[in-house]
Amino acid sequence: MNNKVLIIYTGGTIGMVQDENGSLHPFALDRIYDAVPQLKSCSYDIDSVTLDEIIDSSNMTPAMWGEIAGIIEREYNRYDGFVVLHGTDTMAYTASALSFMLKNLSKPVVLTGSQLPLGMLRSDGRENIICALEIASTRLATIPEVCIFFESHLYRGNRCTKMNAENFDAFESYNYPSLAKVGINITFKEHLFLPMPTQPLMVRTQFDTRVAVLKLFPGIGPEVVNAVLHAPGLQGVVIETYGSGNAPTGQWFISALDEAIHRGVIVMNVTQCKAGAVKMRQYAASCDLDRIGVVGAGDITIEAAITKMMYLLGIYPNDKEHVKQRLSDSLRGEISE
Ligand code: ASP
Repeated sequence: MNNKVLIIYTGGTIGMVQDENGSLHPFALDRIYDAVPQLKSCSYDIDSVTLDEIIDSSNMTPAMWGEIAGIIEREYNRYDGFVVLHGTDTMAYTASALSFMLKNLSKPVVLTGSQLPLGMLRSDGRENIICALEIASTRLATIPEVCIFFESHLYRGNRCTKMNAENFDAFESYNYPSLAKVGINITFKEHLFLPMPTQPLMVRTQFDTRVAVLKLFPGIGPEVVNAVLHAPGLQGVVIETYGSGNAPTGQWFISALDEAIHRGVIVMNVTQCKAGAVKMRQYAASCDLDRIGVVGAGDITIEAAITKMMYLLGIYPNDKEHVKQRLSDSLRGEISE
């Protein structure tokens, strides 16, 4: 019997085709064989489902993450793998969110998209969709992970960042190697996969969006910092610090954070650098952050950090201490241990 893959279509550039006048429209998924005729000769069965609303991924929301996770949960036993077609702009956020929502995942969930619509001659979408389907349906390895496939690379989804708005090579995973070498053959690097879970899939879709990201820059002042820290209802903030987790040591800044932490706001330290990790206390410029209870989040991406914070606040609404502790642990391989 052939392996079966379910395509979940959410929108994005990949899903546009050119009509006879040259305009771009989202295509109906039942026309996927017209757009990618090579799929007619593949050795696996494909079904597809479309989200209620097809979007540019700049409109992605936690409710839609819940919708995607809900489809995977509902169809989990009927398919060997899942391919999520998604716009590139927020793909790394969705991949991170799905990785947290889908606890004990034992099947591949591969997100892909493209920089040029499938309907265009030079589209990178055809290659991306075919490889993503091959990987989600392969019998060579079972990848128990949410991944992103893009331009010959298979990455752990919660390690990715969109780093190029023009090149076909749009994503990078700076702190974790790719999960497969994709050339003439697809060679899986199984030693890099997450361990196969022993418990059944558990899907949790609650997110608390009362969070913020505060990016530091030389010249940042109390007005901006206090406006963020006093946002009504704020539960958590990710500060994007310099280098290995350093921040201004001025009294006004440390006091503002300290006061927020005393009010119960969780503060997480993530570096602005693309590669490398936060190492609290490596420099004097992070000692105060550590002392007042800012959580160091290692080498996590900003996309994984903010989704992880929303996820943990969503599932443990009354246990901030537990949220803090889990933020510095690796839940789905998003932090190097
Ligand atoms: N704006 C598009 C989106 O993220 C870009 C893309 O798909 O590449 O939906």
